[in-house]
Amino acid sequence: MFVDIVKISVKSGDGGNGAVSFHREKYIQAGGPDGGDGGKGGDIVFVADFHASTLVDFRFKKKFAAEAGQNGGAKRCSGKSAQDVVIKVPQGTLVRDAETGRLLADISGDEPVVICKGGRGGKGNAHFATPTRQAPRFAKPGFPGEEFKLVLELKLLADVGLVGFPNVGKSSLISVVSAAKPTIANYHFTTLTPVLGVVKTTDSSYVMADIPGLVEGASDGVGLGHAFLRHVERCRLIVHMADVSGCEGRDPAEDFALINSELAKFSPELAQRPQIVVANKADIATPEQIEAFRKAVRADVFVLSVATQSGVKELLNKIEETLPHLPPITRYEAESLSLAELREIQENKRAFKVEKAESDLFIVDAPFLLPIIRSANMDDYESLQYFQKVLHSSGIIDALEAAGVQENDTVSIFDFEFSYVR
Ligand code: GDP
Ligand code: MG
Repeated sequence: MFVDIVKISVKSGDGGNGAVSFHREKYIQAGGPDGGDGGKGGDIVFVADFHASTLVDFRFKKKFAAEAGQNGGAKRCSGKSAQDVVIKVPQGTLVRDAETGRLLADISGDEPVVICKGGRGGKGNAHFATPTRQAPRFAKPGFPGEEFKLVLELKLLADVGLVGFPNVGKSSLISVVSAAKPTIANYHFTTLTPVLGVVKTTDSSYVMADIPGLVEGASDGVGLGHAFLRHVERCRLIVHMADVSGCEGRDPAEDFALINSELAKFSPELAQRPQIVVANKADIATPEQIEAFRKAVRADVFVLSVATQSGVKELLNKIEETLPHLPPITRYEAESLSLAELREIQENKRAFKVEKAESDLFIVDAPFLLPIIRSANMDDYESLQYFQKVLHSSGIIDALEAAGVQENDTVSIFDFEFSYVR
């Protein structure tokens, strides 16, 4: 089975927490703070694999997570940063956010693309000493990693796409003009994955893709369906091949029209893509058959026999001549978030609920505070001050006031409780 669309989940590593620690040495009292920083969490990075043309590996492995950075230590020891997780995908894979469908990246070039950034490490208490606060008893927690559900969709990158009914000789042609070695057999659907071949020209080269399985109804998802049509989408030039001998009992002119209508149904733009029409298997066709095909398609026809190789050279020359006049292979731009979407995410991240549980008890549900509560020492004045700052900046204090909090009421946030003081 050919796999060119999969859903996976990825998570970059959390940052390590900063450490709370104080310098200790014999005979030295009250050493300064020396808690080190947490290490950075691992990124999730995508790179193009130039030899793969299917996403089949992701049918079995769907979850990718990078490790967290190590926590900071005493003596200003920084925690070790975690390693990135590198995910190899076939060149031409589009990475989308599964929830919104937003395109995050087109993995087409040599450059690695970071899809999820690992969380930064938290600063150790060594950073928070000031002349007035000489013994900070708090450190910053690491930043959380990012988590995404992704849809990976392969859209092959090729200059030339070979299309045609099964058994017309597409695989044969690509194996003759490039080093690619697809299976060639005299039955339908032998080629279940597209095959890319590099065709050398006098001074450079181009990529030809053998795109299998275009059959009637493909644009409606019948048979092998869209899976293959999407791989034609980026091709700069279409080589449309027919079996002019009709040795399979098919009418090449009818097939030719059918495939064109499938392309057009899939995308009107594809119908406009330049095409070179090829009549293959001329070695076993009659001159009348060739003539009839020519008349029917009303376009220039390259008469060819891959079997005897007659006409192959001329076809290659024509392709080489045509390509420089065509626009380059489409690369898709990552879609950025709209301002409204950005805001929503920001607000979600700092989302909280304030609830008046009793006449003098207020409960705050604010998941984003958890790491701070976990790492800060709440018996400590400095920590408390820092915590209060966050309560203010996140709007929780305003919300408490709005909910009617009074002096000395109890505010409870997870397992942490304090008396409200104005
Ligand atoms: P594809 O399904 O379009 O990839 O077709 P293949 O390349 O697998 O070829 C299908 C069959 O047609 C194979 O048995 C080939 O040997 C045969 N074939 C391909 N080209 C020619 C040709 O020019 N002449 C003849 N007589 N047979 C050919
Ligand atoms: Mg084939």
